[in-house]
Amino acid sequence: MTIREEAIDYLQLIDGELRRAHDGGWIETVNPASGQVWARIPAGTADDVDDAVRAARAALDPWRSLPAAARAAALHAWAATVRENLDILWRLDATGNGRARREAEPAIAGAASQIDFHAGLAETITGDTVLVSETATTYSIREPYGVVGLIIPWNAPLAMFLAKVSAAIAAGNTIVVKPPERASVSVLAAAQLIEKAGIPPGVVNVVTGEGATAGEALVKHPDVRKISFTGSTATGRRITENSVLNVKALALELGGKSPNIVFADADLDQAAAGVVAGIYTASAGQACIAGSRILIQKSIFDEFVERLRARASAMVLGDPLDAGTDMGPLAFDGQYQKVREYLESGREEGATIAFGGRYGRALFPAGSPFADGYFVEPTLFLTEDPHLRVCREEIFGPVAVAIPFADEDDAVRVANDSGYGLAAGVWTQNLARGHRMTRRLEAGTVWVNTYRRLHWALPFGGQKESGNGISNGPGTLDEWLEHKSVWIEHG
Ligand code: NAD
Repeated sequence: MTIREEAIDYLQLIDGELRRAHDGGWIETVNPASGQVWARIPAGTADDVDDAVRAARAALDPWRSLPAAARAAALHAWAATVRENLDILWRLDATGNGRARREAEPAIAGAASQIDFHAGLAETITGDTVLVSETATTYSIREPYGVVGLIIPWNAPLAMFLAKVSAAIAAGNTIVVKPPERASVSVLAAAQLIEKAGIPPGVVNVVTGEGATAGEALVKHPDVRKISFTGSTATGRRITENSVLNVKALALELGGKSPNIVFADADLDQAAAGVVAGIYTASAGQACIAGSRILIQKSIFDEFVERLRARASAMVLGDPLDAGTDMGPLAFDGQYQKVREYLESGREEGATIAFGGRYGRALFPAGSPFADGYFVEPTLFLTEDPHLRVCREEIFGPVAVAIPFADEDDAVRVANDSGYGLAAGVWTQNLARGHRMTRRLEAGTVWVNTYRRLHWALPFGGQKESGNGISNGPGTLDEWLEHKSVWIEHG
C-alpha cells in the first residue's frame, strides 16, 4: 500500500471513510519554503467532530474487547506500513511545516519504532491485588477511558500523531484527532494507512480544521472522556476552561523557554555544537524544548558567543527536502510575523544583536525559489537583563538570547526564574556540578553535556506552566488508562 502523493486535496478520516467537511469548506495549505499554496485540507466543523465521535463510540467495544495481543499485532502492522511509506511521509511532513529533512525523516522513523514499543506495552497492562478484607477479594484493574481526543501542534505533527495515537489505542481507547490547521497534510496521508494495517474503521478518526471550531467542538464534546493536548500554554489554558464543563480528564504538554547553561569548565567546542543544535537546527527553533535562553558564565561569555557566531554563520538555509539543509523556514506566515515582531521587540528593549536578525528576501539572491518563503536567519541577542520579553516569552523561532551569569547559584537563579519548566541543559566537565544541577533545575528533562535528546522509553513531560502530562516511558499507557477497584464479597 502506498499513499497518493500527487493529491492536492486531502480528506478527513471518519468511520473509515475519506470525507470532506460537512459544509464543504477548505483551508489552503502554504508551503512555507516557497510561500505557495500546495494543498487543501477540509475545514472541519462541529458536525464533523460529532460524526467522528459517533464512529469512535461504535468502534469502542469491539476494539477494547480484543485480546491485547490482537491490538498489538495491528499496531505492529501499522508501524510496518509507516516504514514502507517513510519516504513519502517525511516529504509531506517537511513540505507542510518546513522542517529540514535531517530532522523530519528520523523523527518519523523513530515514531514507527514508538508504535512498536506501544504494541509491546499493550500486553503489559496490569492491576493490583490489594486484600483489605477478610471476607472479600479486592483488586484493581485498569481500563481505557473510552473515546479520547488528541489535539496536536504543527512543529512535528506526524511524529506526534503516530506516537500519541498508538499509545491511546494500544490501551484500548478509540480516538478523534484534531491535527494543526497549518500542517495537517502528512497526518491525513498517514491516516490512509491505518485501516490497511487492519485497525478497524472508527478506531482512529481525523478531523481537520481551525482550533476555534473543530478543536473547541472536540474539547466540549460530552462523549469524549479525555483530551490530550500539545501546544501553547495560552491554548492549554483555554482548553482547560472548556473541559471543565463536563469534567473531562486532561493531559497538557505546553510551551517552554528552556535554559542551556554553559560553565567555563565545559568542553567549549562540544558545548557550542550542542547549543546550536538545541536552538537553530532544532526545527529553526520551533521546538518546545528549544534551548532558547543561553546562560554563559561571565569569564567565557565573549569567547563562547564567538564560537556560536562561527557555527551559525556556516549554517545552510534553504530547501527543507534537501539533505544538505541545516535550517528550513518558519512553518507559516503567522509564525514568521510573530518572530519578526520579537526581533523588533528585542532591539527596542535594548538587547544587542550579536549575529543574525535578517529575514526573507535579504537572505536569498533575486529570483531564488525561497525569496517568498518564511526564512529567518539564526539570531542571537545579548543582554544582562533576564526580564526582557525576549528572555521570558517563548519565541518559537531561530532566535536565542545569551545572558551572562557569575557562578552556579546565579545560574540556577536565572534558569529557574521562568514560568516554564520543560527542559534544561548544562555544559560542564565537573561531574559533581552536573549532578547537582540536575537536582536544582526546575525542568521535566535535564541534559548534561548533550541537548534535545528524547527516547520513547524515557518519560517526557513539563513542570510548572509547561504542562502536566507525562508521555513516553514504560508507564506511557497510563496516560490513557483509568483505575477501577473491584470488591467481591464471599463471606
Ligand atoms: P497552538 O496552541 O496554537 O495549537 C495547537 C493545537 O491546538 C492546534 O491543533 C490548534 O488548532 C489547536 N487549538 C487552537 N485553539 C484551540 C482551542 N480553543 N480549542 C481546541 N484546540 C485549539 O500551538 P502551536 O502554535 O500549533 O504549537 C506551538 C506550541 O506547542 C509551542 O508553545 C510549543 O512549545 C508547544 N509544543 C509543546 C510540546 C511539548 O511536548 N511540551 C511539543 C511540541 C510543541
